[in-house]
Amino acid sequence: MSTVLNDFLSYSIEHANNWSPFSFTLGEHTTVTSNVSGVVTFTPVDRGPEQRHIVLSSGVHGNETAPMEICNKMISDIADGSLLVSHRVMFIFGNLPAIALQTRFIEENLNRLFAPDVSGMSAEVPRAKVLMHAVSDFFADAKGERHHYDLHTAIRASKNEKFAVYPYLHGLPYSKLELQFMSDCGVNTILLSQSSTATFSYYSSRYHNAHTFTVELGKVKPFGENDMARFASADNMFRRLLQEPVLNLTPYNECPLQLYEVNQVVDKHHEDFALHFSDDTANFTDFPKGTLLASESGQEYRAQVDGEAIVFPNADVAIGQRAMLTVVPCEL
Ligand SMILES: [Zn+2]
Repeated sequence: MSTVLNDFLSYSIEHANNWSPFSFTLGEHTTVTSNVSGVVTFTPVDRGPEQRHIVLSSGVHGNETAPMEICNKMISDIADGSLLVSHRVMFIFGNLPAIALQTRFIEENLNRLFAPDVSGMSAEVPRAKVLMHAVSDFFADAKGERHHYDLHTAIRASKNEKFAVYPYLHGLPYSKLELQFMSDCGVNTILLSQSSTATFSYYSSRYHNAHTFTVELGKVKPFGENDMARFASADNMFRRLLQEPVLNLTPYNECPLQLYEVNQVVDKHHEDFALHFSDDTANFTDFPKGTLLASESGQEYRAQVDGEAIVFPNADVAIGQRAMLTVVPCEL
């Protein structure tokens, strides 16, 4: 049975529509369970009191390959005993039909559907429900630290190659330890979200009190074309998170973190919505106050302060959806 873990990603894609749940023990030290396609949980048999409960998700966007390759390798290393987990961990490969086709999604963006009351007819809606259910089961009665890192790669280049979105905490304090962990992963640009969303990371933060981030590890590339050396720090830190009882992290004041908060959320209201910077402008590129950033019928969107930067611009979204965020530097 453990052979399915040698390439769990390919196995998950092949069997996405005819999944047989399985459970077995690896070398008497780790229990392996899988109840739904693309999701596998490892539980150490002898659990210490300082137990972490960790969710690592990837492939929520089907063409974001590098994090899937990182997770697939961790799974096979756990299976062959070269990576021993001391903490509970659940790996999730998100949108399996989209992964099979190496496309971002089939009908709609899965990472806008993680809301308990989600409804709709798209191919992605049932998957969002299945994954929320899997995460709820995983965190039910989980005592100790809860973590969920939803791993992505960005569509466009970023001025800061790796960055993470810290979901809105509704007034709860930010965790400096989590920011130190991100920094040691090589992720030093952090966007502090200030609104409720229906992303996977927001879901686990809001409804399961987990420390969560949406982590953007670099730029989208096809399977096999990722330069894995660029992901070495993140890969190494996730392995340490699964393995080590206590993580020694770089002190907060020595982390080269750059924090940003959202200044403008720009939604697309008309078909003629256009961005006023070139298509290859990197995320976190900043502009002087007054620069015209985007426009559409009856509306212009300009930088309101010097140093205001753009993130996730996409003029091709559906009417009513977010076409761009602008951000400004901030401190905790
Ligand atoms: Zn993504």
